[in-house]
Amino acid sequence: MSAAPSARGGDAPVLGVGPSIHSIPPGGQECPPHAYRGRLAPSPTGYLHLGHARTFWTAQERATEQGGVLILRNEDLDRQRCKPEFMTAMLEDLRWFGCEWQEGPDVGGPHAPYKQSGRMPLYRAAFEQLRAGGFLFPCTCSRQDVLRALQAPHQGEDEPVYPGTCRAVTGDKWQVTGDVRADAGGDLSPSWRFRVPDGRAITFLDGLLGPQSFTAGKDFGDFIVWRNDDLPAYQLACVVDDAAMGITEVVRGADLLASTARQLLLYEALGLVAPAFFHCPLMTDERGVRLAKRHDALSLRALRQRGCSPPELRAAWRQSPTA
Ligand SMILES: [Zn+2]
Repeated sequence: MSAAPSARGGDAPVLGVGPSIHSIPPGGQECPPHAYRGRLAPSPTGYLHLGHARTFWTAQERATEQGGVLILRNEDLDRQRCKPEFMTAMLEDLRWFGCEWQEGPDVGGPHAPYKQSGRMPLYRAAFEQLRAGGFLFPCTCSRQDVLRALQAPHQGEDEPVYPGTCRAVTGDKWQVTGDVRADAGGDLSPSWRFRVPDGRAITFLDGLLGPQSFTAGKDFGDFIVWRNDDLPAYQLACVVDDAAMGITEVVRGADLLASTARQLLLYEALGLVAPAFFHCPLMTDERGVRLAKRHDALSLRALRQRGCSPPELRAAWRQSPTA
């Protein structure tokens, strides 16, 4: 893997430059120190299933146990896959299941808007801060390019480790202003990747799973923070929102453990304090396949129509933690 320190110039990156992101909005209510703030962050790309419900229920229990606040954030950045009808269904299904939130797109709150499509200026400011700090490089590789450049066949669910193809490209020829993105040669718009510190161990203490360690450049590579369709990638939007909304603990599925390591690098680069993390085991179907939105039979909607009650569903997963 090449490690040309192009935009960084070999110096330690400058933290905290550019527009800052504050957890307390101007004129907003300041939270008492250490007050627990958790979040539910569903994406309206399909009907929620039992696995989502279990993770969200855990998030709610943890907030309730600690006398905290739970917010609902609608992660609706993917214009192609997110649909208004799924957004309506998402809120209905969660309420039916017994979830309650104190801030959200339907109830408002001091950190509005609670839908990501309304928060683009915050993401753009964070992107500019990272770019000015020399943490990013533009990348024009397609997913196919990345797979082709790998030394060994890619295995596993997590995205392949980026082979470093565009690491040496300087960011200066690219211009990003508003929605107009082009380079002097008229090439395709690039995506922007975070250059990870190769070999560094990223460690954190998970609230459920205990000590976790990932090695940058080995367990995950340079990851996209800004997509070539001019949207922030999940990692960036998530970090910016969790910080801006004052989240103190992130409860989510264990499929995001490696994403947490990536996100910790973003917190550090942006000069933000990271929340605590609690990763829940993933739910599988009777054949051991992880639940996904395509498992219509286990959608909350279908279960409700079959006459299942939320207390019954919760009792069932208490007896059998992964089924
Ligand atoms: Zn590339």
